[in-house]
Amino acid sequence: MVQGKAGYRFQNWAQTYSSCPEKYFQPSSVEDVRQILAMARQSSKRVKVVGGGHSPSDIACTDEFMISLDKMNRVLEVNKEERRVTVEAGIFLCDLNEELTKHGLALSNLGAVAEVAAAGVIGTGTHNTGIDHGILPTQVVSLSLMTAVGEVLHCSDSVNQDIFQAARLHLGSLGVILTLTYQCQPAFRLHERQFPSTLTEVLDNLDFHMKKSEYFRFLWFPHTENVRVIYQDRTDKPIQSTSSWFWSYAVGYHLLQFLLWVSTFLPSLVPWLNSLFFKLLFSGREERVGRSDTIFTYECLFQQHVQDWSIPIDKTKEALLQLKAWLESTPAVVAHFPVEVRFTRGDDILLSPCFQRDSTYMNIIMYRPYGKDVPRQQYWAAYETIMKRVGGRPHWAKAHNCTRKDFEEMYPSFKKFCSIREKLDPAGMFLNSYLEKVLIS
Ligand SMILES: Cc1cc2nc3c(=O)[nH]c(=O)nc-3n(C[C@H](O)[C@H](O)[C@H](O)COP(=O)(O)OP(=O)(O)OC[C@H]3O[C@@H](n4cnc5c(N)ncnc54)[C@H](O)[C@@H]3O)c2cc1C
Repeated sequence: MVQGKAGYRFQNWAQTYSSCPEKYFQPSSVEDVRQILAMARQSSKRVKVVGGGHSPSDIACTDEFMISLDKMNRVLEVNKEERRVTVEAGIFLCDLNEELTKHGLALSNLGAVAEVAAAGVIGTGTHNTGIDHGILPTQVVSLSLMTAVGEVLHCSDSVNQDIFQAARLHLGSLGVILTLTYQCQPAFRLHERQFPSTLTEVLDNLDFHMKKSEYFRFLWFPHTENVRVIYQDRTDKPIQSTSSWFWSYAVGYHLLQFLLWVSTFLPSLVPWLNSLFFKLLFSGREERVGRSDTIFTYECLFQQHVQDWSIPIDKTKEALLQLKAWLESTPAVVAHFPVEVRFTRGDDILLSPCFQRDSTYMNIIMYRPYGKDVPRQQYWAAYETIMKRVGGRPHWAKAHNCTRKDFEEMYPSFKKFCSIREKLDPAGMFLNSYLEKVLIS
């Protein structure tokens, strides 16, 4: 009989949200999961599955039953012919990447971190960049989930198709994801080229940049015109060591953390810091070659608050210029660098921020130097207003102030998702306060 632990404290990566579940379970089999859900039903408890705990919101928090699938983390099957891998839902992508490498395979795209679970990244619609690439859930071709009554459903484009399009971005609200099959590619190396530019140049030549590089993104340094362009492209070149490159960044970021902490007493330093760090770390040209997953991911050295809305791609210039103009007209408000701008192909996943439209993600950030919160409400509100005005949809894992009413307007299939959820979980076993805000109230 699987036992739950008392006294466990869950904290997300950025240490911005935490909760103390009444019981914390680490099942090692499907039968264990079924028993936990039976216990939850008998005692009317709610259940939350946690992955890598990287979501910068309270989406994974609960005071009732918490399940970690860290013991259900095996690779179940590698189909080399179809280049597909089936895994248990708790496997971290960093471990999956190593396994795939052994079989000459790789995922076609990854977010910035890989210490996240295979089911966790599709819980919130993790994305990277590349206009020919969808968000990470588009790489999932089938999955199985256990519903609140303990039934296991297999879903794909041909079986339980509606549930599949809901479950590929599930918010943890449909049941316990047990297994997933990811479509992979032959393993590949990436050549990364970084170089400086200006906001005007990049916005005027967006199409050019998107065609020029498979995984194009750029970083804008608020309060300045400075931009860092990042191209990542497939290559046959040998791997180039990146250690000196990494350490110059690591040292720079530690200096940055200290100076940002100083700027909490003197906010007017922030625009100067944005310029200084651009000059110190981002104004030269850098190149490196590495295994795809090592180039996609990078060390996010210290904690931060983030918002990351997806907007129609043709609104990119308008939205960024509005944000720049607002910051210029409101000098009392300061914004940390970078604003990271990424591009993603549209898809048919019901709650995907890229549902039926090619999109631009605009990620804004306020660091927490040494864990200290920096005022951000005015910046956050101005950004949200601009994002809403241009038809934006917020990243499900990150900060936003939207409720069900907003999502009904943003998502043509929002009601369809809700009715699927209500059928699979009529008693709301998998709800928590975050989900009540976005799905119910
Ligand atoms: C440093 C950092 C960098 C990041 N970079 C990016 C980025 O580049 N792009 C991007 O889009 N996002 C990014 N994120 C956000 C991150 O990718 C998402 O929050 C992702 O969902 C985290 O995965 P996780 O495994 O930690 O999930 P968690 O945060 O643990 O959970 C996410 C959701 O999935 C649910 N869940 C997890 N496993 C299961 C399961 N087996 N069954 C049912 N529900 C489940 C949880 O209940 C929750 O609702 C970043 C976050 C951090 C902290």
